[in-house]
Amino acid sequence: MNGATQGGKDRRKQFVVSGVCCATEEHVLRKRLDATIGSQRYTFSLLSSELRVDPDIPDAQVIRDLRGAGFQGRLKQEFHAPQSFLERHGQALWTAAAGLLTVIGMAAEWLGIPPLVSRAFLLAAILGGGWQVLVKAFAAVRARTLDMNVLMTLAVIGALLIDRWSEGAAVLVLFSVALMLESYSTSRTRRAIESLLAITPQQANILRGSSEHTIPAADIGPGDILRIRPGERIPIDGIIVEGESAVDQAAITGESIPVEKKRGETVYAGSLNGRGSLTVEASKNYEETTLAHIIHLVEEAEHKRAPVQSQVDRFAAVYTPAVLAVAVLVAVIPPLLFSLPFEEWLYRALVLLVIACPCALVISTPVTLVSALTNGARHGILIKGGKQVEALESVRAIAFDKTGTLTDGRMRVTDVIPLDHRSPDEILVLAAALESRSEHLLAAAMVEESARRGFAHDTVVVEAFASLPGRGVTATIDGVHYFLGNLELCREQQMYSPELHHRFEELTGDGKTAVILGASDGALGIIALRDQLRPQSREVLHTLRKQGMRHVVMLSGDNERVARAIAEDAGIEVWKAGLLPDQKVEAVLQLKKEYGGVAMVGDGINDAPALAAATVGIAMGGAGNDTALETADIVLMGDNLNRIPHLVGVSRLAMRIIRQNILIALGLKVLFLILSIGGFATLWMAILADDGASLVVIANGLRALGFRNGKY
Ligand code: ADP
Ligand code: MG
Repeated sequence: MNGATQGGKDRRKQFVVSGVCCATEEHVLRKRLDATIGSQRYTFSLLSSELRVDPDIPDAQVIRDLRGAGFQGRLKQEFHAPQSFLERHGQALWTAAAGLLTVIGMAAEWLGIPPLVSRAFLLAAILGGGWQVLVKAFAAVRARTLDMNVLMTLAVIGALLIDRWSEGAAVLVLFSVALMLESYSTSRTRRAIESLLAITPQQANILRGSSEHTIPAADIGPGDILRIRPGERIPIDGIIVEGESAVDQAAITGESIPVEKKRGETVYAGSLNGRGSLTVEASKNYEETTLAHIIHLVEEAEHKRAPVQSQVDRFAAVYTPAVLAVAVLVAVIPPLLFSLPFEEWLYRALVLLVIACPCALVISTPVTLVSALTNGARHGILIKGGKQVEALESVRAIAFDKTGTLTDGRMRVTDVIPLDHRSPDEILVLAAALESRSEHLLAAAMVEESARRGFAHDTVVVEAFASLPGRGVTATIDGVHYFLGNLELCREQQMYSPELHHRFEELTGDGKTAVILGASDGALGIIALRDQLRPQSREVLHTLRKQGMRHVVMLSGDNERVARAIAEDAGIEVWKAGLLPDQKVEAVLQLKKEYGGVAMVGDGINDAPALAAATVGIAMGGAGNDTALETADIVLMGDNLNRIPHLVGVSRLAMRIIRQNILIALGLKVLFLILSIGGFATLWMAILADDGASLVVIANGLRALGFRNGKY
């Protein structure tokens, strides 16, 4: 692939570790790396077999440490380099050869050819197919851990001791077939992530003067002017400088309804251009596009462990020694105490060894979580880790911000009312100048309206600008101190009067938001703005209630009357108005006390503290908003509220699958524990069941990848 996977802030070195197939092996690896690199300085993901280490650790040391634990490591950049036929298919060839030798050996046994001949074939199969298992087993024993390689080796040696050569060989061959199938099926989740990346074009058409050149997309930098033809994918984030077109941003927002874009608007790498031709000025490097950022965060998410994962791992850590202890007892007690046939009880103990490996159990959880994360990314929902998926399950209360969340945030100025000698236009220009540095949606609306009326507020010199969250802004223009904001701000500025309050209320009565422009000598005017409830709000809230959100509230910084109008419109019974950012935090904490898990949905800029206080903070409009991307637990890339029911749905499904998987894996283990102690199970049955279980739980986990939420 390309460098885009390393975008973002994280510059850790990435290695691909070959052949970590099971959590018990992961344990060996971690033990080794904890001792050499230190547990704080690396992360490892079993699913992608990817190791990330701090950049100052030399490559050679990492590779040496890995080899010491029995694994092969390569830098990720090199991993995708073309490989020879043998490198790609070596494992399969070895396994096939071992399989063939096993069949020949078994046939020879069956035909009554002298045992020496059949055993020679079977031994060749065991050594040929199993030398890697042996090497790893040796490394594990040296690290004083028991992994599945040790268990398999013991099982095979035991089988040979009691003269079950063909079974020993069959166990190894089946084992190695299963490992290949497993790694094939888990790589589906990785390929799903990579397919997100694959959609950005590798080439771009750059304009230099009047001529057009084709260059590798990776060479584009900010300021480059690109030509994008109808139907082409956009290679980079940038601003349209010429042309207009409907752009399909599904790769980013998960919504394939084309969005009309014109001059001055932002387009994102990975989006599909519609019927217009566009000239775009690149605003980012290829590795720093929003899409690269998304992919990076999804990959990061995989490295963060969910609590359920840690629990499973803790269980697995005691499971193996426990089963092993039982196996020893089974082999020793019956022959010694009850003088039962040793060979038969040893065989039963060997079957136990095969099921002592908790692979299916351990792999099932990360496969499912990553499937859910990837499903989210495909639908424009960026989930920062499995922890959030798990946390969402316990969420029973959900709080929404009003402006820009329940409403579409497309504020429009509806009235400008002067309170002194100034004209409405003068008021508006002053307001726009003051707001030109604010990120608030209200600010954007005033700036836009002033521009629409043809005023150039950007020539005004604004000094001492301050943004007061939840209240408004203050600044100085031409030596005069101005403020612009709500009544609360007026009070603070000692400009409050009952008369002002009255005018203000007149405007807010019908659901408009009003802000007051004032200077040191009095209030100058009132500007009223309004936005619309998002068309899907009512339905989304309804769906969420059906999904079991017992408590839906609206938290607004706006005044009581506006809040009520919007809440009634949206069908929300409980709302709180006039909240400052830290009062929103308090409201969230209060909900947490009452309901346990609370999700907060907001815009990620002025709601950031409340998002952080919630069990799960969900930010809207992540595309083009890097702060939201960085800070929230979950980011909806687009503005579409109906991603929330999808998010809740996929999280619930994932957690349900995880429970099923644990049940399947443990159930089979218990069954085989009983069967093998009772003498009803054979070695190859045990290994088929065990690896069959792995494949079943992986397949089950992958279901989360294809989740669709009803009609959404
Ligand atoms: P909401 O919860 O509706 O998103 P905020 O907490 O962002 O509201 O803001 C609360 C109130 O503070 C707004 O309704 C507005 O009256 C005032 N306010 C906040 N920022 C600004 C600004 N930049 N300009 C003017 N008024 C503002
Ligand atoms: Mg807001």
